[in-house]
Amino acid sequence: MADTMNDKTRIYLASPTMHGDEQGYVADAFETNWVAPLGPNVNHFETEIAAYTGCGYAAALSSGTAAIHLGLKLLGVGQGDVVFVSSLTFSASCNPICYEKATPVFIDSEPDTWNMSPEALEKAFSQYPNPKAVVVVHLYGTPAKMDAITQICEKHHVPILEDAAESLGAVYKGRQTGTFGRIGVYSFNGNKIITTSGGGMMVSAEEALVEEARTLSTQARDPARHYQHSKIGYNYRMSNIDAGIGRGQLLHLDEHIRRKREIYARYKEAFADIGEIAMNPLNPEGDANNWLSCMTIKEGSSVTPDRVMDALEEQNIESRPIWKPMHLQPVFAGYDFFRHNDGSGSVSEDIFDRGVCLPSDIKNKDADMDKIIGIIRRLFH
Ligand SMILES: *Cc1c(COP(=O)(O)O)cnc(C)c1O
Repeated sequence: MADTMNDKTRIYLASPTMHGDEQGYVADAFETNWVAPLGPNVNHFETEIAAYTGCGYAAALSSGTAAIHLGLKLLGVGQGDVVFVSSLTFSASCNPICYEKATPVFIDSEPDTWNMSPEALEKAFSQYPNPKAVVVVHLYGTPAKMDAITQICEKHHVPILEDAAESLGAVYKGRQTGTFGRIGVYSFNGNKIITTSGGGMMVSAEEALVEEARTLSTQARDPARHYQHSKIGYNYRMSNIDAGIGRGQLLHLDEHIRRKREIYARYKEAFADIGEIAMNPLNPEGDANNWLSCMTIKEGSSVTPDRVMDALEEQNIESRPIWKPMHLQPVFAGYDFFRHNDGSGSVSEDIFDRGVCLPSDIKNKDADMDKIIGIIRRLFH
């Protein structure tokens, strides 16, 4: 019961919030029998995401993971290549590197935004001067230090693939996340800031890259009447039904972001007098979408993240740990990792050890927030 998405009494971490507009676009698709993949919703959703983000061009795909996979392929990543990637992230940021039999090299976080450390990135370049790409994540919707990261990557002539799966609508120095890299990626998975039930988008300022993503995602058919293929393709395109859901959701993205920011502000204020709690840091050079609000517990506190999660779960409230860093994952144990600080331990591991992702569902009522805050405050007294 606790794991279902339709327990009406449960308070969720982040679940889909639908508005009704989605059904209108889906109904159009039914009426015109555009139930197949492709169709007007897909084309419009791409144009609308491009207009919202200013990314240039967009290809609607079946998932954010598919978008990262095609993005890496388009950057030429293949067997034996090295790819730098943020360690503190969801495994989908780096699994596609392994699909291509390339080698992930993990980069630590910096403490200011929890994202890729420019210092650790420099260290990685000194040992691996020729990575094929750098995958930068905007964790929990907080923009990374893109100026410093971009500068380093430009110096080494290495393209950035921006994993903006969690950060749609977040901006850095006035520019949307996802538009800094040669390629950007958004996710519309069920718990992201807007959803298509499942889906993703690969974006770029270069039309040719996006056009090629569309080709590869539809089995790489050559432009011939007969079924001819000169490349290996994928079945990665978004369906016209899912794109309809996305179009309806996009109308409410700004509203979702506003609510997410209110949730973050509410937690921050509620815990301001508890010295043992800090909220996830934001980037002063940008505006987060605050997809998930997270707290860390000061070292030496008698309260552990497990204790917070257990106390919430007892009241049917969902929370979850910070992503376990990729360099600590059994499946990636053999790969290199570059730390922000010298010595042992790492920033990403420390955040993982001390952090909790708090319920950030925009459907939460004031009373729900009071309940969550009350449970946590009581643990610290
Ligand atoms: C959700 C997520 C993805 C994957 O997106 P899907 O649409 O679920 O495939 C990739 N990277 C990060 C950081 C994510 O949070």
